[in-house]
Amino acid sequence: MKKKYLWIPKKFWAVLIVAALVIFGAWWFMSDKQSDVTAMHNTRDKMQVTASSYVVYDLARQIGGDQVALSLLVPPGTEPHHFEPTPGSIIGVQKADLLVYVSTTAEPWITDILQGAPGVRAVAAAAVEPGEDPHVWMTPYGALSMAKQIAAALQKADPVHKNYYQQNVKQFERTMSQLHKDFVAGLANCQHREIVHVGHLAFGALANTYGLQLQTLAGTSHQGEHSVYKLTNMVRFIRKSRVPAIFTEEMLSPELADTIAQETHVYILPLYTIEEVSKTDFEQGTSYQDFMRRNLANLQKGLKCQA
Ligand SMILES: [Zn+2]
Repeated sequence: MKKKYLWIPKKFWAVLIVAALVIFGAWWFMSDKQSDVTAMHNTRDKMQVTASSYVVYDLARQIGGDQVALSLLVPPGTEPHHFEPTPGSIIGVQKADLLVYVSTTAEPWITDILQGAPGVRAVAAAAVEPGEDPHVWMTPYGALSMAKQIAAALQKADPVHKNYYQQNVKQFERTMSQLHKDFVAGLANCQHREIVHVGHLAFGALANTYGLQLQTLAGTSHQGEHSVYKLTNMVRFIRKSRVPAIFTEEMLSPELADTIAQETHVYILPLYTIEEVSKTDFEQGTSYQDFMRRNLANLQKGLKCQA
């Protein structure tokens, strides 16, 4: 009897546990399914836009607003001129409604992507002739011309929201106009007009537009030659011109700039190319104009400009 008495509740508990597991499992399955369906529904309403590197990612975000679901091909913390796409990146592009890239000059690897996803709608925001400086966005009006290309592609792919995209371009145009005015005023009265830049030739258009000179060690891509001759000339120039600071790039390894700075007793300030992005800025959603204002502030400091 005792045994039987003990045996019954055991079975009872076993049944209870099984029942609880079944109920929990069913709830888990249902809730999981429901959230999947909701997520699919939300993203399916939006245009699926893939951007090659950060500058076009941010421009597409500002023009596309809440009508686009964006993804970025070159991951944060990666240099974009010599990025190597994976099969996964090609599959991602095949699924996209629109691929936005800078140009095949700035991103030669985009050719492989385009070949791997032949039917995909794609737009080069800043197509340049071979040999031309591909860093078109380094002036506010250059960025505006790219934003207009992206807007035109969005309107074509998603005509229902044409007015929305046009309004966003107008807003961006006002922002760029103000940014340009602030650069003109902010760089008008400077003790020095030479940007000594330990990096690649990304700021040529910016220097030209605002009447500055530019000294760099490398060419327009990141794999330039840092010749001893150029380095010696740079050190000589820093000593002679008495510039208080040299400029480097945010994502560049600091050794070379550190060596030059120690040799010449100047300090180092970063300039942002915006083609690549740190994980922190990516997570914070730092915009094109935010980066350009950092550039302006650092140029004013390093060239001793009066506001
Ligand atoms: Zn570059």
